[in-house]
Amino acid sequence: MSLLRQKALRAYFGLKREVDFYNIPKTAVLKQGLNVKEIALLLNRDNHVHLSKLAADPIERFHLSVLKWTLGVNKGTSNAAIWGDCGRTPLVIRYVKQVTVFFNGLCRLDREESPALVRHAFAKQKNLNLDWFNVLSTTLNSLDENRHEQQFVNATLCQNRAKDRFISVWQSERQHNRKLRFYNEIKDTFELEPYLALTTKGGSTCVGKIRMSAHKLKIETGRYGNRSENSADRLCDFCCDIATMELMVHLPDVDPIVEDETHFLRTCPRYHTSRTNLQDPVKSLLMYDIKAMFGPEVIQETARYIKELLRTRFPRKT
Ligand SMILES: [Zn+2]
Repeated sequence: MSLLRQKALRAYFGLKREVDFYNIPKTAVLKQGLNVKEIALLLNRDNHVHLSKLAADPIERFHLSVLKWTLGVNKGTSNAAIWGDCGRTPLVIRYVKQVTVFFNGLCRLDREESPALVRHAFAKQKNLNLDWFNVLSTTLNSLDENRHEQQFVNATLCQNRAKDRFISVWQSERQHNRKLRFYNEIKDTFELEPYLALTTKGGSTCVGKIRMSAHKLKIETGRYGNRSENSADRLCDFCCDIATMELMVHLPDVDPIVEDETHFLRTCPRYHTSRTNLQDPVKSLLMYDIKAMFGPEVIQETARYIKELLRTRFPRKT
């Protein structure tokens, strides 16, 4: 027993050296065990788990708030958009390989009938059919389903498949998220976006805010206001006479001009000068292929443009 205790302590302090626990609530660390079960549900293709459930895990929540802080967007920003633009899966997916290697190690000890104490502990828990063993073995078996019963689970394969399955859940969920309407127009694959290579001064934060609808344009502020039912709240006040439109907005054939991302970037005359000064090819991409504006070759000019527009829309109070 003392050997096991010694090993556990060594592992604990080893982990402590690697992770900065300073800013993590202690309860989050204590609850970490719950995570395996949720991830198993996500990875097991017969079950469907929502991204929100995954994001609710305390460690993932902490990870997401670090990413949001790095990107300079508010806490309410969509988690799916954050994962997607950073090209980072939840932490738990990133550790599938390590967990698999650990699991294989335990199975190997068991098979070799090793005298190690940990092997006895493992065998006992396996025989008792404990929850964690069930969940983990079912998950890993579903990820590496074609292996022979005698073979160990292929850790790299599990890692890749776990990532693929996460991305497919991500793809389908984000398409149904109404808040990500603009994001879905411009985002294709799950990968790190070129704008994140820019500095804040270079406009990276501004680009992120527009992409993920983490801004204060009327489409967002009007949506959640007290009068959210009234779509006049979402109209561009530069292009519409709001008082008149409030009376007319519900009439048929009235096509109100909503201040959404496309209107902001492409058509609103408030930014006419900035648009005229925009360099090619971004100038033509803005009209014909808004998605391509976020490509690596042109992102610098796009970021400069978006930053300028946001500054015009929300001038700094002196
Ligand atoms: Zn306008």
